[in-house]
Amino acid sequence: MLFRDCPARSGHHAHITIAVFAVIALVTTTAMRAGGVSHVNLTVRLYNTAGVSGPELISARDTATSILGDGGLDMVVRHCGRTISTETPPDACSESLKSTEVVVRVIDAPAFNAAVNPDAFGLTYVVTATDRGWLATVFADRIERAAMRAGVATGTLLGRVMAHELGHLLLGSGYHGPAGLMRAEWPDATLPRTGADWRFSISEAARMHQAIESMSHGRLATETNLLRTGSDKLVALNAPLARR
Ligand SMILES: [Zn+2]
Repeated sequence: MLFRDCPARSGHHAHITIAVFAVIALVTTTAMRAGGVSHVNLTVRLYNTAGVSGPELISARDTATSILGDGGLDMVVRHCGRTISTETPPDACSESLKSTEVVVRVIDAPAFNAAVNPDAFGLTYVVTATDRGWLATVFADRIERAAMRAGVATGTLLGRVMAHELGHLLLGSGYHGPAGLMRAEWPDATLPRTGADWRFSISEAARMHQAIESMSHGRLATETNLLRTGSDKLVALNAPLARR
């Protein structure tokens, strides 16, 4: 009798599983039809004034693109101001910033700036009114030194810092996660790690997706108005970012 019951139970289980999958598929289809699942795209205007080499910048770009891609976020990078290779034409990036565009500048860390943590790899500015930002800065010299100390590729670390700072632009002020790419502390010993240490969490990726979608619908339009009035409306946040 016992043996005869078993197939019935597993059969019942299988049925429930199939029903759940069917419901998920239905919800997904409905959401897509209603426009709930939309394709959003973040464009990054990348300025390299630190003299990072073309191959390293390409590696950084590809690393950051891959990290965002793992979170389901599409990113397009424009190399502004100068070419990275003979095959890439220069992009002046002279037109106004679009709603889904942000700027990443690669500079050497300022020698004397009390507002910037001496160990920070990067810095983001977030607009108070919208809790979002459009300008991220990464410090090429500090990143290069840390990469050499830890024995990791400079381009890879540069790309990870870029992705972290892009996270700050989209996740709002002062956010750091308990683990993963958005963790606050990046000691040298953790830099050679691979995998989940360099990825956004599922909830972070979802929030970023939502932020880009809001931007694409112009719901952060006040940000542009604030920026036109001058930089005094900007608040520097996250100075102690990505400390080693
Ligand atoms: Zn940070």
